[in-house]
Amino acid sequence: MQLKALYVATIFGLLASCSTLAVAQDLGVPTAGPLSSDGLAFQGEERWWKGNTHTHTWWSDGDAPPELIADWYKKHGYEFLVFSDHNIMQSGQKWYPIDEPTRPLEQVQAAYKNYVDAFGDDWVEERTVNGKREVKLKTLSEFRSLFEVADNFIFLVGEEITDSFQRHPIHMNGVNLVELVPPQGGSSIGDTIQNNLDAVMRQSEEYRQPMVFHLNHPNFHYAVAAEDFFHLEHETGDGFFEIYNGHAGVDNHGDDLHESSERMWDIVLSKRLGEFGMSMMYGVAVDDSHEYTRWGIGTTNPGRGWIMVKSKWLTPNKITEAIKRGDFYNSTGVTLSQLHVGDGLIAVEIEAEPGLEYRVEFVGTLKSADLTGRPERSETTEHDHRGNEEHLHQVVTRYSDEVGKILKTVNGTSAEYVATGDEIYVRARIISSRIQNNPFAEGDVEMAWTQPLQVQQN
Ligand SMILES: [Zn+2]
Ligand SMILES: [Zn+2]
Repeated sequence: MQLKALYVATIFGLLASCSTLAVAQDLGVPTAGPLSSDGLAFQGEERWWKGNTHTHTWWSDGDAPPELIADWYKKHGYEFLVFSDHNIMQSGQKWYPIDEPTRPLEQVQAAYKNYVDAFGDDWVEERTVNGKREVKLKTLSEFRSLFEVADNFIFLVGEEITDSFQRHPIHMNGVNLVELVPPQGGSSIGDTIQNNLDAVMRQSEEYRQPMVFHLNHPNFHYAVAAEDFFHLEHETGDGFFEIYNGHAGVDNHGDDLHESSERMWDIVLSKRLGEFGMSMMYGVAVDDSHEYTRWGIGTTNPGRGWIMVKSKWLTPNKITEAIKRGDFYNSTGVTLSQLHVGDGLIAVEIEAEPGLEYRVEFVGTLKSADLTGRPERSETTEHDHRGNEEHLHQVVTRYSDEVGKILKTVNGTSAEYVATGDEIYVRARIISSRIQNNPFAEGDVEMAWTQPLQVQQN
């Protein structure tokens, strides 16, 4: 359709240089008409768009300039990307030190060389201050048109709102923002999260623009437990948190003392939907990528976790609206060809790859389950930045195995679960037999996670 429009425009361009109107009439080309397209070019079919909502660059503590990172994502089949640097957007003036970097010099020099090789001397802007070189970071508005193509690739404006409470790092992403959201602080972990969530939603209302707030990596330093955010109030919709984060420093799988991020999801869903009468909490998989010059386990690379969003349009607002509706699933390698979550049914069909085996697990909590949390006092030893031992006392809360249990397993490439009415919610996770390429943890296999189906009262 775009080609056709271009063709017609070219014909009109030629006609403009012709002296007689008769020529145009002979060609059968209209000389004037309403200012509109043929009505089809801007109305695509609903389809899935691949994107990452958590990405760092030289604007904060990533190890490469945003243009190189955008290039990586675009070349790897992503259709949208959110740069989410710590408490900064890609706007205004910022210079990145090349000779006195905060990261290892060889990493910075590698990124700098790649940058100049890819974009050339006349794109890269440098200055020297007190004998030290600095590179001027390009703003999103400066570089976005190098990459953005209709129905192919776009950016959404974002930020990782980087807050803390006492010793607990509390990070949250604002997606499709207009303005920077400064960390709001608070009187507890939960209060801090709530204040930042409220700030993003205030901005969304102020600009009448859809925005997503997601709580990031609760298991980064085990800073945030399920009990810290299962009471979050989302007055304008549902909640979101990262169930998978590709950062090497995030313990997605938990340990003897701490729940995995995925089990936190079950605790939060069970309590919110089954006990508090609160709204849905959707799960999000992200890269949280920082490193693009060193690769492998132990580093924090792109390409580990993403979301697939169902939308007719690839525009920032439409993608954000679809995420807000829960029209997306998470993946670390498994692609779904069909997905239905609703009307008391979850049905999945996997885009199967030859030689691989798949298992679909339907995970949920029954209404009869005991949802009581039992606090347990524990002591852990950590080392501070000087290497001194610190003994931390903390309370962890345990729940019954009935919270988030496997209700049905299907081996194969398609599966469905019909709710009986006894469940609070059900969700599907799909597990492939293939080890993930460059996983955040040794031995992780490719997976996908659907959003939960809330089961109505019977
Ligand atoms: Zn973070
Ligand atoms: Zn991050």
